[in-house]
Amino acid sequence: MKLTHSVYAMNLGILRLFRTQIFLLLSFQIFSVHALSLKHEVYHLKGAEAGKTILVVGGIQGDEPGGFTAASLLVTNYKIKKGNVLVIPNLNFNSIVESSRGLYGDMNRKFNKIKLNDPDFSAVEEVKRLIRDDKVDLILNLHDGSGFYREKHVDRNKNPNRWGQCIVIDQSYLDNSIFPDLEKIGTAVAESVNKKITNKEHQYRVRNTRTRAGNQEMQKTLTYYAVNQSKSAFGLEVSKSFPTHERVFFHLSLVEEFFQHADIKFERDFKLNSTSLAGIIGKNLDLTLYQRHIALDLDNVRRDIRYFPIKRDRELEFKSTNPLLAVFEKNGHYKVKYGNRNVSRLHPQFMEYDDSLTHVNFTADGSVVPVKIGDTVEVKKDFLVHKQDGYRVNVIGLVSNKKSEDELTVNRKSLIRRFSLDMKKQVYRVEFYKEKKFSGMILVKFVG
Ligand SMILES: [Zn+2]
Repeated sequence: MKLTHSVYAMNLGILRLFRTQIFLLLSFQIFSVHALSLKHEVYHLKGAEAGKTILVVGGIQGDEPGGFTAASLLVTNYKIKKGNVLVIPNLNFNSIVESSRGLYGDMNRKFNKIKLNDPDFSAVEEVKRLIRDDKVDLILNLHDGSGFYREKHVDRNKNPNRWGQCIVIDQSYLDNSIFPDLEKIGTAVAESVNKKITNKEHQYRVRNTRTRAGNQEMQKTLTYYAVNQSKSAFGLEVSKSFPTHERVFFHLSLVEEFFQHADIKFERDFKLNSTSLAGIIGKNLDLTLYQRHIALDLDNVRRDIRYFPIKRDRELEFKSTNPLLAVFEKNGHYKVKYGNRNVSRLHPQFMEYDDSLTHVNFTADGSVVPVKIGDTVEVKKDFLVHKQDGYRVNVIGLVSNKKSEDELTVNRKSLIRRFSLDMKKQVYRVEFYKEKKFSGMILVKFVG
């Protein structure tokens, strides 16, 4: 095992913090030499009524947030009523969290051939399997491209080498497919979406890459693989000139037109315009760790969270309802990211976990309530944690001389505000320990 300078320096830092030195030195090296191992997910959105099936792929390249954010919103904010939508919102998940086009090269140039030992192998092969699946009728691959595509050179930003604001097809017609007339469909979709785009400069065009005729770069792509399986496929490009919420607006407008074309019926829980998108992107992010020993609401969360209980010598286990939420170890910290945006950084305190505690009684504003580990108690004025035999209570931010901080009435003023979990200084951690083991966390949120 090669020990690099930075890993060595980090180990020294860690050694100062912890007692079980040799054990940690070993475990830390194991974390450090392993590559990121986040995995994409396939979501099946099924309508009650049968119909066509569209596969939507986002995040084939990790630095294109318009595409992967739009795809993720299909999972979190849409309901399919008729037909089916398969969504992979985070195909190149490891590259997404690193804001890299491709940590192992461009994944969208690996669909003609890929080596068995390529780290992208399983992702690429799974997409190919889905494309070949008899149920899949149409495929959309969502991208963000530079500038604005134009048939003829206008200027640096608008010319045939730019990719923004176009619908890409590999050929105009595809025999033996469910939706053979690629050019007509693309043109109809562009015309409908362009009605919503008042600025003519930003309107959509269809771009035929004539891949079969000798476009060698395009012959390596996902859509061309699909075309060779007689599956209609379109590349959707938004311009990187726009902020993410505007890119998402264009993408979802295009995707909805394709839905309509394939008679896929849906509902969404927001108004499709860039202002409302700006308000929902990256919001309502949830995170649970280790079977709900810890559950965090990440809205307004602090950028750094200290002394965070992380399970010693185990893979991190996390869950979120949001497909773009990820937690992973980097340089001795645990980064919490939403796509390629930083959400928070957990500074670990490694410890053993205990599974024996399920509920704790609290008195919240005068009434006794049983609270599940992982839950949040809302409090207007004050709370008190009931004594739990065999467990120690630590109210983070409370100064007291009690070994276990139970049977103490705590109000907002008794807490040191910089220990809050959130920047609004409303949410505080109450942690439970059985001897030295961590038994779980409950959050107290001061409201009103
Ligand atoms: Zn792309």
